[in-house]
Amino acid sequence: GDRRLRLPPWLKKEKILPSENENVSRLKKQLKHLKLATVCQEARCPNLGECWGGSEDSLATATIMLMGDTCTRGCKFCSVKTARAPPPLDPLEPENTSTAVASWGVEYIVLTSVDRDDLPDGGADHLRKTVQLMKLKKPELLIECLLPDFAGDKISIEKLATSGLDVYAHNIETVERLTPWVRDPRAQYRQSLDVLRYAKEVSPRLITKTSIMLGLGESDDEIKACLADLRSSNVDVVTFGQYMQPTKRHLLVKEWVTPEKFDEWAEYSKKLGFLYVASGPLVRSSYKAGEFYLKNVLR
Ligand code: SF4
Ligand code: SF4
Repeated sequence: GDRRLRLPPWLKKEKILPSENENVSRLKKQLKHLKLATVCQEARCPNLGECWGGSEDSLATATIMLMGDTCTRGCKFCSVKTARAPPPLDPLEPENTSTAVASWGVEYIVLTSVDRDDLPDGGADHLRKTVQLMKLKKPELLIECLLPDFAGDKISIEKLATSGLDVYAHNIETVERLTPWVRDPRAQYRQSLDVLRYAKEVSPRLITKTSIMLGLGESDDEIKACLADLRSSNVDVVTFGQYMQPTKRHLLVKEWVTPEKFDEWAEYSKKLGFLYVASGPLVRSSYKAGEFYLKNVLR
């Protein structure tokens, strides 16, 4: 039989209203000529209207993926394709994506990537070059990179931490106990904390950020322990979202966490001293990323 949990009312499709303001239509029109694939559109993200739309409180934000569509890891919550040796990097990608993003109307760009354990530097040089070119072509653009753990390699972490990016993001994904079961075996809970701590140490002006998925069977105490670990690793921003099973071959959802519970985690985290918290069933790590930046860093 189908062991999947039924969707709760707050996640039913008809409850998720697409909103589209002028900014969203303008960005869509511009994209047609730019040859830029966004995660927002490819993943049919329900937050597109809010993120791209921007507002007085939030910068227009979008996410793109770099270094190909094939990952060397196989996390059990993620639907990205896996291969031991993905195709080589496109050497023109830093030049081409930076030109496209710089001429697009977004104010805040999130660069995400697959993990490339097959490359000696995990792709750190390629990503660094992309950030540098974007800042060169559009200095006012804010850049967040959602980065791999680089297998803990300090030189790679430094390359990114000093690339000129504004927000260094690396996702812890889940609590310590569930990590070996949820993430690829090469990913380790302590290593992820060390990556975040080291990025901030190298470049204290950076904002560091992480995300936790809820609904995988974690207990409240385990979440609290994880948040304490993140704070003691000097992480500034945390986001919470509901884990959604991408296909039948991925981990089952253990629990639909209620919107009220997400609010409680936001309150709890703020009291612990996080600079900004986004928390809700549909929140993804890049959800309105421009909002916290505008409210907490630029003001
Ligand atoms: Fe997906 Fe990232 Fe895990 Fe690769 S490392 S499988 S892209 S979550
Ligand atoms: Fe794009 Fe992330 Fe916002 Fe979704 S949450 S629309 S992927 S920036």
